[in-house]
Amino acid sequence: MISNHFSALSRNELLTKVDNDYFDLLVVGGGITGAGIALDAVCRGLKVILVEKEDFSWGTSSRSTKLIHGGLRYLKQMEVGLVREVGKERAIVHRIARHIVLPEKMLLPIIEGGSLGKRMSSFGLWIYDKLAGVEKEEQRKMLSKKKTLKAEPLLRKDILQGGGLYYEYRTDDARLTIEIMKTAVGQGAICLNYAEAEKFLYDDKGAVQGAVVKDRIDGKLVTIQARKIVNAAGPWVDKVRKLDQVKISGKRLHLTKGVHVVVNYHKLPVQQSVYFDVMDDGRMVFAIPREGITYIGTTDTNYTKEIDAPEADGNDVNYILKAANTIFPGVNIKPADVISTWSGLRPLIHEDGKDPSELSRKDEVFVSDSGLISIAGGKLTGYRKMAERIVDKVANDLKESSENYKHLKSCKTHKIKVSGAKFDTNEEMRAFLAALVNQAESYKVEESHIANLFWKYGTNAVSILEKNLDYLSEGMEPEDSIRLAEVWYGVNFEMVTNLNDYLIRRTGRLYFERDKLEKMYPKIAEDLAKLLGLSEDQQKAQITAFEKAYKAVLKWQK
Ligand code: FAD
Repeated sequence: MISNHFSALSRNELLTKVDNDYFDLLVVGGGITGAGIALDAVCRGLKVILVEKEDFSWGTSSRSTKLIHGGLRYLKQMEVGLVREVGKERAIVHRIARHIVLPEKMLLPIIEGGSLGKRMSSFGLWIYDKLAGVEKEEQRKMLSKKKTLKAEPLLRKDILQGGGLYYEYRTDDARLTIEIMKTAVGQGAICLNYAEAEKFLYDDKGAVQGAVVKDRIDGKLVTIQARKIVNAAGPWVDKVRKLDQVKISGKRLHLTKGVHVVVNYHKLPVQQSVYFDVMDDGRMVFAIPREGITYIGTTDTNYTKEIDAPEADGNDVNYILKAANTIFPGVNIKPADVISTWSGLRPLIHEDGKDPSELSRKDEVFVSDSGLISIAGGKLTGYRKMAERIVDKVANDLKESSENYKHLKSCKTHKIKVSGAKFDTNEEMRAFLAALVNQAESYKVEESHIANLFWKYGTNAVSILEKNLDYLSEGMEPEDSIRLAEVWYGVNFEMVTNLNDYLIRRTGRLYFERDKLEKMYPKIAEDLAKLLGLSEDQQKAQITAFEKAYKAVLKWQK
């Protein structure tokens, strides 16, 4: 009996257990799409396994703009159906993941020569509210030039005509992915990181029925038998389709790169998020403040290099800084002010003759002759609905194939709150947080630190605070105990296997607190070595990998 299926300490045992075991569904890819599929499928009564070749959310799902949004700009492309669907999904994802999907006030400045004029902006935001069924208090408000400047004094005055205030939702994409995955594991799914699907297995009729999976930590191979296989490999979808001997013709992926840059909040102290278009290409850019920083992005350029390693270059950074300095002329952000960056690849569906920004963000499903189901495109925001469509297909196929599957339930993920988010209303959530912060003295942790933990882990922050008390009672210094307690939680409940998993994806610190990391990471490396029982060489290798990632975000400066 394995006590905790999402502990890095159970990973080896799990790999042995699943070898040659039989599953109803194997999901390849541990981004938001795979996580959503695993959760939906396990809740319908299927036996599910998910394999991810790196860490969970390592692909695009930790490198987005981190918004759960309706995609206002898709209205320009007349993608009404997409805006309606993701608009409605915003509200659902907020309801099921309240501690990591928070309402975010957004200002849309209307500028002379901008791609949307005053009337179109007002109409666009009105339609947006209608399509998404936005509640009254969050519906758009159109502002005069004077009121727009009051809302955001940094805006450029000479070309400003007015503005629109509306709401989107802000998230942490990697944490949303891990909370969904944790929920799936809680329902009985098995999710393994550093497990790469290398080869598919077929029955004598040529139907895909399993995969050989490589444990990328110690190299062993395991065989997983599965009735259905879903390829949710994001930008790698075509690579995985090729493993299935599919000749990629007709619809295929078109990858575009998107870069974000991070500056200290005092360099760009916006009063709320701003969504603006000042560049000649009509692209819209976000400036989003959070926890002491502001991040700005994104670019959208064709990408044909190595999929595993997209990086920001000088052109990307200059483009974003030019956009920010044009709309906020007083701030004068220089490349040297950039404290971090991240770059991700959009797995879009190719359409002949279209530029990156014109390509649809809709998802597409491909089914190969062997029965491999691949899903590509889409958005973070729409993950739940994408998963529902895929699992409907999987369930229907299984029901047709055997009486054993007649009992399968329908989708209920719109009602399942993710791990850490057990609240029915925002008021209930705030009351929980207030009560937790009130116990700061008994937990021996600063109030602000408790709040930080809550916004990452929701109700699971309590486990970290209690572990901290255990460490304190063993005589540990407070600064060390609370740090170690958080790392302990990651190792035992979020399958953290190395420094990068923890500092990049579980906590986002490489992006949002890079300036504090130099002092912090050697201590965290020691914590991890202790908790995971690493040898000195293994610890050194983790430090080297982290230092590489630490430098890579500013590599374009050279
Ligand atoms: P991924 O997250 O890339 O996951 C696929 C995973 O499959 C990877 O982790 C990879 O390692 C794994 N894999 C590949 N091959 C194998 C194999 N053989 N075996 C096992 N695993 C394998 N959407 C929004 O809704 N809001 C936004 O604000 C937003 N902003 C964006 C900004 C940028 C710059 C980009 C690039 C995208 C943005 N998106 C946004 C889109 C959104 O991020 C993506 O649609 C979503 O993250 C894709 O998730 P995924 O799970 O399909 O792919």
